[in-house]
Amino acid sequence: MVQLEEAQEVLKNTVHFIEETEKVVLSNAIGRVLAADAVAKVDQPPFPRSPLDGYAVRGSDTKGLTKEYPGTFRVIGKIYAGEVFEGIIERGEAVRIMTGAPIPDGADTVIRQEWTDYGEDEVRIYAESKPYQNYCCQGEDYKKGDILLKKGTVLDGISIAILASLGMKEAEVYRLPNIAVISTGDEVVQPGEPLKSGKIYDSNLHLLYGRLAEIGIRPYASVHSKDSAPHMAETIKSFVDQADLIITTGGVSVGEKDIMHEVAELLGAEKLFWRVDLKPGAPTLSMVFENTLIICLSGNPFGAAANFELLVRGVIGKLSGNPRWNMDKKKAVMQTGFPKKGGVRRFLRAYHEDGNVWLPAGKHVSGVFSSMIGCNCLVEVPEDKDGVMKGDSVWIHLL
Ligand code: AMP
Ligand code: MG
Repeated sequence: MVQLEEAQEVLKNTVHFIEETEKVVLSNAIGRVLAADAVAKVDQPPFPRSPLDGYAVRGSDTKGLTKEYPGTFRVIGKIYAGEVFEGIIERGEAVRIMTGAPIPDGADTVIRQEWTDYGEDEVRIYAESKPYQNYCCQGEDYKKGDILLKKGTVLDGISIAILASLGMKEAEVYRLPNIAVISTGDEVVQPGEPLKSGKIYDSNLHLLYGRLAEIGIRPYASVHSKDSAPHMAETIKSFVDQADLIITTGGVSVGEKDIMHEVAELLGAEKLFWRVDLKPGAPTLSMVFENTLIICLSGNPFGAAANFELLVRGVIGKLSGNPRWNMDKKKAVMQTGFPKKGGVRRFLRAYHEDGNVWLPAGKHVSGVFSSMIGCNCLVEVPEDKDGVMKGDSVWIHLL
């Protein structure tokens, strides 16, 4: 039996950060961890550009101009965004220019079109503009050589847009951990199959698959195994070559069909620990087989769910280098109570908002799962407390 923190340490120390990288098209790179600094190869914008629709001129030519005393300029060209004006603007000249177009040589400001008579061959300008007013300098966003995103950044919509602005169509990211999930239980059948007497549907397999996918990893294998130690051992053997992590549920307690202990022996795996000092899901077992970590969670659906959050997520955080796998915890105030004799550290499913936390109605036992609907945290009840009372300040672990 180990304490939760010890179990977390042991598991994390067993795995290594995966340093292999791969190139992924930007549209698939959301949530991935950048494996190389993103450096600007050119200034952004790459040329001085107009921030508005108007007329590019020399600012000094507009000195003192007003509606009463306008200036008249010869319009020597017209450019839209994406085009380039090849000539040079001389004194008394203007180029009709649209937002985003490069400001022609010679000009140092753009007169807003509303301050003109919109003239085509000649334009009257009604206001003065100082040099570099209404003028976006080359590199005003970032300069060639700037590091915009550091290696290790978790890519979100903003950072994907930055990579795109750098002209990159792919991001170099760390490979995701390969994870296999396996459920056990002769009583467990897959959704869609008929439910014969004595059977229940497999929710754990789908919980693990679903939570992993939700946080960012689709397991490469998800299968169910019979309660047969040799069969389970073969299933694990078929996955170890490719897997960085194998997660199983069920068969870790002390019953005759709790096959995972025998599986460990059949494989000749190195056991790390069996049983964690908490509720629910205490009988969690962990082992290493051919350098692959195998975490065997309880079959009780809430036990499996809570220990996935408390034990497995941190391991994936280490493997992937992605901090979003690590659980955040914070203080909150109980708005409902749960009296229960102490003596064991307990985690309760709950809903939190704005520093307050509520427990769902219904039974808080590890075999009951439906009250997880809508829950977004686990409330920690210390071992020396007889449950929690309304108004108690507690630690909550965010899902
Ligand atoms: P076990 O840990 O295998 O002893 O299972 C504990 C309890 O969880 C039993 O009531 C099982 O029927 C149930 N259970 C085990 N595996 C699953 C599963 N994949 N989906 C839903 N319930 C399960
Ligand atoms: Mg079982």
